[in-house]
Amino acid sequence: MSLTTTGEASRVALAREGAGKLMHRCKVLAQCTEKPGEILRTFLSPAMDEVHGTMRPWMEAAGMTVAVDWAGNLRGLYAADGNESAPRLLIGSHLDTVPNAGAYDGVLGVLMGLALVEARAVRSYPFAIEVIGFSDEEGTRFGAPFLGSRAVVGELESNLLQCVDGDGVSVADALRDYAALRPETVEAALSPRAAAYLEFHIEQGPVLESRNLALGIVEGLAGQSRCNVEFRGRAGHAGTNPMKQRRDALAGAAEWITTVEAIAKRYENAVATVGQIAAEPGGVNVIPGVVRCSVDVRHAEDAVRAAVVQGILEEARAIAAKRGLHVKIAQYHEQPAVKLNAELVALAERAAGHAGYATKRMTSGAGHDAMVIAPHVPSAMVFLRNPGGVSHHPDENVAEEDVAAAIHMGLCFLDEFAAHVKGKGQSA
Ligand SMILES: [Zn+2]
Repeated sequence: MSLTTTGEASRVALAREGAGKLMHRCKVLAQCTEKPGEILRTFLSPAMDEVHGTMRPWMEAAGMTVAVDWAGNLRGLYAADGNESAPRLLIGSHLDTVPNAGAYDGVLGVLMGLALVEARAVRSYPFAIEVIGFSDEEGTRFGAPFLGSRAVVGELESNLLQCVDGDGVSVADALRDYAALRPETVEAALSPRAAAYLEFHIEQGPVLESRNLALGIVEGLAGQSRCNVEFRGRAGHAGTNPMKQRRDALAGAAEWITTVEAIAKRYENAVATVGQIAAEPGGVNVIPGVVRCSVDVRHAEDAVRAAVVQGILEEARAIAAKRGLHVKIAQYHEQPAVKLNAELVALAERAAGHAGYATKRMTSGAGHDAMVIAPHVPSAMVFLRNPGGVSHHPDENVAEEDVAAAIHMGLCFLDEFAAHVKGKGQSA
């Protein structure tokens, strides 16, 4: 304990103070909702305007210049002292939510950026900090996720712009109306000086809690494959068809589902889920003739994911052949895995070490804004322990002391990043 330097002691105090403030702010922002009694904030909604209006004075008080871009992203810039051309460290996450959400998913990562700017005010760094609150990550309104982050990297392609919400309004129309009513919106693009992106996010799973760790360092985001698998047999009377003469589509699907689980277990860290199943005709006294299943497969390595998918689909064909069923397979979604920047990941890990926290390197099984930003700007992600692994649910939680750990670690990250920027400057 006597080894603790004054600098470290003051960081611990700043982190504690910042964590208390951040927890309170999450509760304040949870009041900004489209649906009384639950948290719901969607892309370009009035509830999102309310969040912007609430955060703006906090950010301005911290010395930031605040703007909203035409894609509805909140942008706060804390300039580097007297250096217009300084590189930028982006810190952000999303401000939209799923229906009936918790108070921390996304919001925490945006408030972490603000907390670090506030806690760092005593020091000067050779880089600017831009805090970004993305307008859409969950895809709740249009079914298409990452609209905010896609806009800033120039990837709002025409198929996305044509997606429509429940009222038949397209993304393109929603964006046009939004900007027309708000002439003060700025360009939705990343600065060419953006040098790194850092995202803090609750884990949304049980791993850190089971390892008794406050923080995890994310080194990559899993790729995803989704398929629909349909088994077709013969419907018939449940009382008159002997077992040996049936072609029961649901019994075939059930056998296949257990192999989906078994195949995923053969590969370390692979996950495969049959999340939807529908049987027809669905009578209590009728042999199921048609069964449709979804399957979702994820892994950090694309080759492993492909092997799992291949194994699963071969089993579907084999089981169908054995049981006299027809099988129809539609692979409709392929999202490659994303690796985060090795240098920044190591830097984040070192920063956590300096702050006194052991960490675990992890792959995110969920998608995050970092997935969209990483191919354009070197990116790193930090997970915070998520009690019970509960997320996308009102019971979602995070411990204040783990937020303090994240802020302390983040302050060390800023120091490490300053050295990194200076090193780059010298080698350039
Ligand atoms: Zn999220």
